[in-house]
Amino acid sequence: MPIKKPTKEQLLLEIEQLQQMLETLRSDKANLEIMLETTTEHADAIESQLLTAREIAEEASRAKSQFLANMSHEIRTPLNGIIGMTSLLLDTPLTSMQQDYVDTIRTSGEVLLALVNDILDFSKIEAGKLDLDNQPIDLRQCVEESLDLLAPTAAQKQINLAYLIANDTPQIVVSDITRLRQVLGNLLSNAVKFTPNSGEVVVSVSAYPLSAEENDPSEKSTNYTEYELHFAVKDTGIGIPADRISTIFQSFSQVDASITRKYGGTGLGLVISQRLSQMMGGQIWVESEVGIGSTFHVTIVTQAGYSERYAHLTRKHPHLLNKRLLISSPNKTNCMLLRQQTKRWGMKSQIATTLLEVFGALRQNPQWDVIIVEMSSPGNQDLILLEKMTKFQKKRLPLILLVPIYPIQQSQPNIVACLSKPIKPIKLYEVLTELFTSPAHTTPLPPSVETNPSLPPIGLKSNSLKILLAEDNLVNQKVALLLLKKLGHEVVDVVSNGLEVLTALQHHLYDIIFMDIQMPEMDGLTTTRQIVQEYSDKQRPWIIAMTANAMQGDREICLAAGMDDYLSKPIREKELAHALLQYYSHKDISNR
Ligand code: ADP
Repeated sequence: MPIKKPTKEQLLLEIEQLQQMLETLRSDKANLEIMLETTTEHADAIESQLLTAREIAEEASRAKSQFLANMSHEIRTPLNGIIGMTSLLLDTPLTSMQQDYVDTIRTSGEVLLALVNDILDFSKIEAGKLDLDNQPIDLRQCVEESLDLLAPTAAQKQINLAYLIANDTPQIVVSDITRLRQVLGNLLSNAVKFTPNSGEVVVSVSAYPLSAEENDPSEKSTNYTEYELHFAVKDTGIGIPADRISTIFQSFSQVDASITRKYGGTGLGLVISQRLSQMMGGQIWVESEVGIGSTFHVTIVTQAGYSERYAHLTRKHPHLLNKRLLISSPNKTNCMLLRQQTKRWGMKSQIATTLLEVFGALRQNPQWDVIIVEMSSPGNQDLILLEKMTKFQKKRLPLILLVPIYPIQQSQPNIVACLSKPIKPIKLYEVLTELFTSPAHTTPLPPSVETNPSLPPIGLKSNSLKILLAEDNLVNQKVALLLLKKLGHEVVDVVSNGLEVLTALQHHLYDIIFMDIQMPEMDGLTTTRQIVQEYSDKQRPWIIAMTANAMQGDREICLAAGMDDYLSKPIREKELAHALLQYYSHKDISNR
């Protein structure tokens, strides 16, 4: 069929319709353009609002951190006065009632400090602001240091404190020592707190290799291998009811408010420990039975390596081989630990749990080479009895005493050493080696008493240092001066700001400056930077920060400014003594 051509009128009509459509499209396009412009403007406005909101949130978070830092600083400063002064007051003659009052003030100060630290840590973790400072660390030292902190409280409650590191556990691990110590310290302090007098707290450490290429830890390898470390803190305390176990890992949660009033605490320790162990790639859990005790388990994943440092603890030694050792302790764990450890060195031991059994063992076999006796009380009764028993031996039998933290007054010539609990294999090895390698090992050595850690460490030379103290707070000046005096340093110059430090340096040569950070006129960091710039390393004094700035990174800021060491307030005698020792060892090394 032929196609019919459109007429001219029809074509004109179609063109007109198309033009109308085009017009509509044009107008739609214009409308759309307007809408697009409005939307873009709107999006820009939203984006800028979002940016502002983010800036406000960041500013708020910065302000919160700053507020926390300031609050921590402000609370720590008076606490330094309270804890420092009461510790000093306790060393003066007081009636028992006064002593009790002062003790309560000091303990309350310590509790308040723990609370500030916990809240600070908790909010840092919540804000994702807590970073781990992973470094190769000595695992045995870390465990021993955590135990040492609890040793005085455990001794007071006559709680036996012990630890056991499994044989194939790596000695050097990569971890954040402060945070690992914090986790162990939390668990240990709970274990001691919730264990009645005369109980026991034992820490066990073991490790499982995780990586495919397993290194033999006894091989001298510098390669690091991945391990899971497992810590178990076992106590014979009050236990936790099964239905409360899940709640104790929640913040501010405690099993029983009346128990809390009795024992104290914030209910934050376990939450912080849990978060820290998770950050370290591990977990935390507990097994517990009411009235029997609890075992808290913590794992962390870490790189581990081998060090020669403790190799001697796991091998036999000719000078100890077949030496006969009599172990006398009423505590089964300690007997087992002593026996296990001395067997590794090739010694032969027998256990006597009572003095009567010791007597029997001495009568049966007069050929003992050494006897280790655990003293259960500070009294000398057991010693007098022992002296009588050993009198009839052909040669003098060397005695090693195992004592709680308090030093024992003893005058017996047989005693070659007093070792404090928990038993430290390194110390025991040193004592036995000294005993069996000294030329006349039958003649007893002068007693080497491991003293209470609050006493100044031996080796501090009195008055031999020229010290400058830069501190603007009068109470803190007093605390520092008295603590230094107690450690044998009476002559200390005091200034109260950085400008005065610089002036004092022009007139005197100082060995050490204890430098506060926040001071008027010129702060401690600026002052240190100026000293570092003006004086050579050999000329300038050793600078130790002594500050209430205890937030994460504060130590690094002080060291980056040129300081040599860092002490956070409240200043403890032991830490101060340690800082002085650090200075001496640095001086020894640089003089060599
Ligand atoms: P707190 O500061 O109260 O000790 P934690 O978070 O460390 O806070 O512990 C929470 C609660 O868990 C404690 O108040 C206590 O009720 C219970 N708890 C922790 N450890 C033990 C333990 N070893 N034995 C018995 N109860 C424990």
